[in-house]
Amino acid sequence: MLKTHGCGELRAGHAGQVVALAGWVHRRRDHGGLIFLDLRDRSGIVQVVCNPAISAEAHQVASQCRNEYVLQVRGTVQCRPQGLVNPDLPTGEIEVAADEVTILNPAKTTPIYINVEDEVDEAVRLRYRYLDLRRPRMQRNIILRHRVVKFIRDYLDAQGFIEIETPILIKSTPEGARDYVVPSRVHPGKFYALPQSPQQLKQLLMVAGFEKYFQIARCFRDEDLRADRQPEFTQLDLEMSFVDQEDVLQLIEGLFTALVRELEPETGKRLQQTPFPRLSYDEAMARYGTDKPDLRYGLELVDISDLVAGCGFRVFTQTVAEGGQVKALVAPGCAAYSRRQVDELTSLVQKQGAGGLVTVAVQEGELKSPVTRFLSGGELEAMVQRTGARVGDLICIVADQPPVVARALDALRRELATRLSLADPNLLAFCWVLDFPLLEWNEEEGRWNAVHHPFTSAKDEDWVLLESGDPGRAKAKAYDLVLNGWEVGGGSIRIHRREQQALMFRTLGITPQEAQAQFGHMLEAFEYGAPPHGGIAPGIDRLVAILAGEPNIKEVMAFPKTQTAMDLMTQAPSEISPRQLAELHICLTLNKVGQA
Ligand code: ASP
Repeated sequence: MLKTHGCGELRAGHAGQVVALAGWVHRRRDHGGLIFLDLRDRSGIVQVVCNPAISAEAHQVASQCRNEYVLQVRGTVQCRPQGLVNPDLPTGEIEVAADEVTILNPAKTTPIYINVEDEVDEAVRLRYRYLDLRRPRMQRNIILRHRVVKFIRDYLDAQGFIEIETPILIKSTPEGARDYVVPSRVHPGKFYALPQSPQQLKQLLMVAGFEKYFQIARCFRDEDLRADRQPEFTQLDLEMSFVDQEDVLQLIEGLFTALVRELEPETGKRLQQTPFPRLSYDEAMARYGTDKPDLRYGLELVDISDLVAGCGFRVFTQTVAEGGQVKALVAPGCAAYSRRQVDELTSLVQKQGAGGLVTVAVQEGELKSPVTRFLSGGELEAMVQRTGARVGDLICIVADQPPVVARALDALRRELATRLSLADPNLLAFCWVLDFPLLEWNEEEGRWNAVHHPFTSAKDEDWVLLESGDPGRAKAKAYDLVLNGWEVGGGSIRIHRREQQALMFRTLGITPQEAQAQFGHMLEAFEYGAPPHGGIAPGIDRLVAILAGEPNIKEVMAFPKTQTAMDLMTQAPSEISPRQLAELHICLTLNKVGQA
């Protein structure tokens, strides 16, 4: 090794020792006589002092160094003189007096400052990702990610799980997104797909008798990268045999509880509540308007449909008469919101499809609202009672069909939490959402879609609904793990009987021929003694981002892509040579978008 110690490891106890260090020049200060180099490596930063009286040569080399030069330094650790101790630096009590400085490699001026934590244009960061990753914040994030994955591996190993790799070149799996495909050279006109998840493979590993499988699995989904998505991302993919839902929930809850506690000294993040609260899907939608509620704050939705069904305000009565809902959310302390502030909230709910927002400001001795004159004193009183609004609060009301009300009030709830700083960034509010519907109606295609995926089992008592042609009411043995308003994992107990899987495919409008062509291997496997099984797949990227306090998953991925799925560093995707195309039997006929 070119070094005996990490820069960040040296302490007062090392004083007097001769050490060799190697790293990057974080900063250089030339004080005429003395040159100070802050030398940085993965372990941290230490001050090196080059005194010409100790080594004229080392001083001479140091005078040529610039930021990010790669150096080897030999010298003696010494305590800093009184008054020059730097309490902000773990190595701040000492410095290294250089006997020898060797430039291992010079560096051009970097397009990103490594030594200043400032906002850098994302395109520049991604183009020079290797420099971006040198920054202490990114080093911390990537190392935290390593710790998370290492903890998960050790924990699951101790619980008897086997880590098994599954192939990246597979047959298309239906997880609801578009596949990335890879053309086959040896089979002209045929394609592999990259796995959207190892779903079918892990189920087949259960048929194979491994009983407890996991993998830190890369998944690929060719989706429009709205929000915080990446074309490839990582899941803790997991499957167990001979279990029911409760076993999977207990395992994951134990794992994440232990993980968070282990990392708390580093992340400063703690669990809001254990055991994790459980909500049914219907309850989550009713109370929060979403199946991934942020439980760090209350702001629950309150149904007031019955209270206003007969009032004098047509928007309310008509909505209720048409099978809609009138629901309210109390914005604490917002009674004095200005017209402009209320307008902002109104346009927020309108963006979600709601017609408008009705507000009632609860003031000392009076209720101020455009609708008070349409409602009786009793109706208003009942509304205040039911919502629990107090003087100083603003009641926000949306009237519409249930999905619109849910979307609008969910958006409003999150906006108010941000405005009012209600979500403690150091709290981790996990919860389980259970009892999802099995299917959802696809209006465009006029058929049922699986809410989770087609391998998810219906609740035992609900299989008859599929048989009797009323599948919309069936509930699934599916569960989501939610953390601070993000779905961090979903899973289910699977179908393990051939006839149920066939019924499921039929219900989804897949013909027996199509089922055979696409999923013949699954149907066949289920005939050779498939055990009951189930699993889950928590997303690693989001989990680490939340633990790292980062708003975006890109910050915890070493080499992420842009919102348009580009790798700015290597310039992927890129054209391939005519020869490669010919070998793959591909003839390009690009439309207007591409240029052939
Ligand atoms: N494969 C599923 C997914 O990626 C997770 C699971 O059901 O285990 O969402």
